[in-house]
Amino acid sequence: EIKAVGVGKSFGAFHALKNISLDIGRGEFLTLLGPSGSGKTTFLMILAGFEKPSRGQLFNNGVDITDQPAERRSSGMVFQGYALFPHMSVAANIAFPLRVRRKSEQEIKRRVAEMIERVGLQGHEHKLPSKLSGGQQQRVALARALAFEPGVLLLDEPFSALDKSLRGQMQTEMKRLHEETGTTFVFVTHDQSEALALSSRVAIFNHGELLQVGTPQDVYERPGSRFVAEFLGEIN
Ligand code: ATP
Repeated sequence: EIKAVGVGKSFGAFHALKNISLDIGRGEFLTLLGPSGSGKTTFLMILAGFEKPSRGQLFNNGVDITDQPAERRSSGMVFQGYALFPHMSVAANIAFPLRVRRKSEQEIKRRVAEMIERVGLQGHEHKLPSKLSGGQQQRVALARALAFEPGVLLLDEPFSALDKSLRGQMQTEMKRLHEETGTTFVFVTHDQSEALALSSRVAIFNHGELLQVGTPQDVYERPGSRFVAEFLGEIN
């Protein structure tokens, strides 16, 4: 379980995040939803340990991790675009984080094969990312992040580069991966319908503030503010 208490982030005089308190339960699928510039990515970077909060604290199962660097946190990240290594095969991309953490060759082989199967990339192991479709590349990125069995998987608009039908397909796959692995997913999107379709809970951000947290049904049927009502009302 992750707990943010009064987390704030300033860049100079600009307050990108203001006093965010939020509990993320083990195994949940939490989506950070809000318009561009609302602070979603900044909050995700703080969860990952890539950014340090200017104020407030972060706990993991009761342990204060506010000052813990990214490499000591058990989080996996999938970014916008794919950020795969272009010169490495699919298998080598997935193996990379395991090699960095000095897993044995035997374990690497086993985990890579398992992840290839889990994301349905059998037969593509030895290809370079450039030979794959956008959806396949995003599956490699998901497999690479999951290969290390992260305590929490942080996903920053992972499907933003995909066309609409592929996006729908990847959403279904991600939901399945979440159910199969039981991993905590924290997902960033500015797409209201994506958030409501995928999440166990949605956290709605605007101008660096966390406006409302609840199940998709909660926030949709009982918006706590005019902004939330109008923002969710834009779904078509
Ligand atoms: P998007 O959906 O466009 O990615 P977002 O909700 O993820 O938006 P953030 O990327 O968290 O928003 O940015 C929140 C605000 O903080 C923005 O106004 C952004 O310009 C600002 N910001 C983010 N990182 C920095 C930085 N390193 N230096 C200065 N300002 C920053």
